[in-house]
Amino acid sequence: MKQELICINCPMGCNMEVEYDEKNIISVKGNTCKNGVKYAEKEVFNPERIVTTTVSISGASVPLLPVKTLGGIPKELCKKVVEAASAIQVCAPVRVGDIIIKNILDTGINLVASRSLDKA
Ligand code: SF4
Repeated sequence: MKQELICINCPMGCNMEVEYDEKNIISVKGNTCKNGVKYAEKEVFNPERIVTTTVSISGASVPLLPVKTLGGIPKELCKKVVEAASAIQVCAPVRVGDIIIKNILDTGINLVASRSLDKA
């Protein structure tokens, strides 16, 4: 199988062509450094994303608090992370970095506040 990827490990953004079978990377073309191979392996077999979304907040001057995961979430769980965040409400004040949902979906990753919001 073949897949085209853009490595996002650095601003070079190398366009890569990855050939792989069910278990292994066979070849990577277009990478400028070996980090591209590591990125390709992860992206093909275990893709993860940082999830950014919002949760409802009461008592602040705005109704939504921006939040993000403090690490990569398996791609297939990203939608469920957004759903879990949309199902809760927090109360002001909140400080940037506060844990909003600990170990979200048993991923070992915390969902944290991306900004501070004081009481209105
Ligand atoms: S392959 Fe290397 S140089 Fe190219 S984007 Fe990835 S990390 Fe940067």
